[in-house]
Amino acid sequence: MATATDRQEFTFQAEIKQLLHLLSHSLYQSKEIAVRELVSNASDALDKMRYIALTDESRRDSGTLEITIDPRESEKTLVIRDNGIGMTHDELVTNLGTIAHSGSGEFLKNLASQAKAQGEGQGGSGKPDLSLIGQFGVGFYSAFMIADKVVVRTRSYKEEAGWEWESEGLGSFAVSPAEGSVPRGTEIVLHLKDDTKDLATPARIREIIRRYSSFVPHPIRLASGEV
Ligand code: ADP
Ligand code: MG
Repeated sequence: MATATDRQEFTFQAEIKQLLHLLSHSLYQSKEIAVRELVSNASDALDKMRYIALTDESRRDSGTLEITIDPRESEKTLVIRDNGIGMTHDELVTNLGTIAHSGSGEFLKNLASQAKAQGEGQGGSGKPDLSLIGQFGVGFYSAFMIADKVVVRTRSYKEEAGWEWESEGLGSFAVSPAEGSVPRGTEIVLHLKDDTKDLATPARIREIIRRYSSFVPHPIRLASGEV
């Protein structure tokens, strides 16, 4: 059983911290971006698992690779789950927070130059276009556009034990051993902000998936039925 001493606190890499500040204060942005980015990450994890199942005899029986989205209006949460490769403890710490990664700095620069161009031009919308975030390799952090707390539960296909990552998108995140048995893959639990709680409804999710994720090459199911 996990004890308090198993919990480790980490500080986000400096530019990620800046990016998080910007994302969590983004107004009037299309919040659908976050769902698109997390579904795209789930799909990437399934692609990697599919490749492993095809190339490693002992992993051939990896089940039906799929994405499940579970909107819970009463709990104001949205859960996006995949049974892809998952992450080990070290992958979790580096991939989601500490890697010194050029993407966040470059994305911040891109937003600043957009703001400058809009200032020089006439009648610009005056808001930066955050939808490019995925192209800079930092799409995961868009979760903090819609959530004020994010919990990631994951288990790598290489391991028996799972890990839990948790953050409020401020300066730090925590990683602890997950309690209980964790299925292979990754589950992102988004505790939605008040102004995005409409994302916790099947109708909104269905609409977003049709609009943004129609080319995802894996089944996407709503926990309550097909999308
Ligand atoms: P990118 O997808 O462009 O690499 P992201 O910020 O979206 O950038 O994700 C960062 C990294 O976190 C991914 O490269 C991957 O290693 C890891 N990751 C994110 N989501 C998942 C997931 N659902 N399953 C496994 N790994 C993931
Ligand atoms: Mg991504």
